[in-house]
Amino acid sequence: MTNRLWDALMAPHVESDAALLIRADGRRISYREMARLSAGIVLRLEAAGVRPGDRVAVQVEKSPEALALYLATIRAGAVFLPLNTAYTPAEVAYFVGDAEPAVVVCDPARLEATRAVAGSAHCLTLDAEGRGPLTDGAADDDHTVPRDGSDLAAILYTSGTTGRSKGAMLSHDNLRSNAETLVGAWRITKDDVLLHALPIFHTHGLFVASNSFMMAGAAMIWLPRLDPGELIPLMPQATVMMGVPTFYTRLLDRPDFTRDTAAGMRLFVSGSAPLLAETHRAFEARTGHRILERYGMTETNMNTSNPYEGERRAGTVGPALPGVEVRITEGATEVAPGEIGMIEVRGPNVFQGYWRMPEKTAEELAADGWFTTGDLGTRDADGYVTIVGRGKDLVISGGFNVYPKEVEMLIDEQPGVLESAVIGVPHPDFGEAVVAVVARQKGADPDPQAIIAALGERLAKFKQPKRVIVVDELPRNTMGKVQKAALRAEHAGLFAP
Ligand code: AMP
Repeated sequence: MTNRLWDALMAPHVESDAALLIRADGRRISYREMARLSAGIVLRLEAAGVRPGDRVAVQVEKSPEALALYLATIRAGAVFLPLNTAYTPAEVAYFVGDAEPAVVVCDPARLEATRAVAGSAHCLTLDAEGRGPLTDGAADDDHTVPRDGSDLAAILYTSGTTGRSKGAMLSHDNLRSNAETLVGAWRITKDDVLLHALPIFHTHGLFVASNSFMMAGAAMIWLPRLDPGELIPLMPQATVMMGVPTFYTRLLDRPDFTRDTAAGMRLFVSGSAPLLAETHRAFEARTGHRILERYGMTETNMNTSNPYEGERRAGTVGPALPGVEVRITEGATEVAPGEIGMIEVRGPNVFQGYWRMPEKTAEELAADGWFTTGDLGTRDADGYVTIVGRGKDLVISGGFNVYPKEVEMLIDEQPGVLESAVIGVPHPDFGEAVVAVVARQKGADPDPQAIIAALGERLAKFKQPKRVIVVDELPRNTMGKVQKAALRAEHAGLFAP
């Protein structure tokens, strides 16, 4: 038996001196060096007590060594459990208590706080420069623990905006199959160079970006975070960028981001949150590139993608990826093309269930393999999927369903509006009232009354906002997702009797 994921990502390249990572200052780490670095970490994880199947929880800054730690965990036959660097010790306590890792790796600055919540787990450190006991010393042995396709490779906790955060269990084959699919769909080859400015504690930066580029034997310019001033001068060395929508709006804010900057690029990919059609158009006008938008989630990896060749439709997430089935349902039946329903997916990309939550798993992942995503959407006659929002963001006002996206799209067309978030707020008569939180364009002062009046002609009464609140910007998390739960909490008392 071999190790399914290591064999697909790294084994073919371990003798290669081609660059895997390129730092902002130009220093390179080859595939051969990365393999060696990971071999040393395997030894030290094992010395700390890690056995096949054990969880290795990791809350560290992004560095080449952090990627090596991920690879080493896979090689040791263990389960990688990355944690958002923004999580507080109290949050880490929950994940560690739930997942019971053998080892927790943290930044040295957090060692004491981590120890206090780590229970019997062994605590090790890795700093932002990749230094610490895991990377200290030689790799005088090089081995990889056998794992088959159904063994777990990773547990990623969902962001958990409602209720407890759930650990999504991903197998070697879940990750391997999706990387294969993306390499094919996006034509990734060893000649590609990715601008990698995403965090690697999330599926986007770790699996979508890193796994597919390693599988192809390609290179990644490894940036700790998005800093447009740093990224723009590096773009002429790259061929592909993957980002969340805020990457694109932040690039567009920069006058030094021009058609020339992007001239050598062949692909820009966006995901993790909806890309405004307006951003898509503005990006094309500036650079001549049409951003390719795709849709996935922690539990499923990538489900749909606009085509590499063929029409990339702004505002849609494209058709199902090869090997992935998508259906749109209402209750137990599929809806007609163009109608809104629940997006369900099935395929080798779909996870194994939620860690130690058999009931939650049974609710969302059916025995025949269909997973209920929680996203509402439509699919048109030629298969393109459009997401209209999370099911839990649906507003029910006076007993009628209001899909936030329909209202947001009309508000976004109004003068002075950059973007908007439509939420449901408790209301004594209607149950919930539609409220629009509107982010103004720089220097503009959109008029709430004018917005309500403009919608009056275009939307049924029950869909119209009862209140429009103008703000400078919408609250977002690190993956660019608008925090609707936070907005609902902030405005919960708006119609209190
Ligand atoms: P996460 O598990 O953090 O990756 O979040 C997954 C969720 O992000 C999905 O269920 C969608 O609600 C949302 N999402 C991901 N990609 C897109 C996209 N291209 N457009 C709209 N929403 C998206």
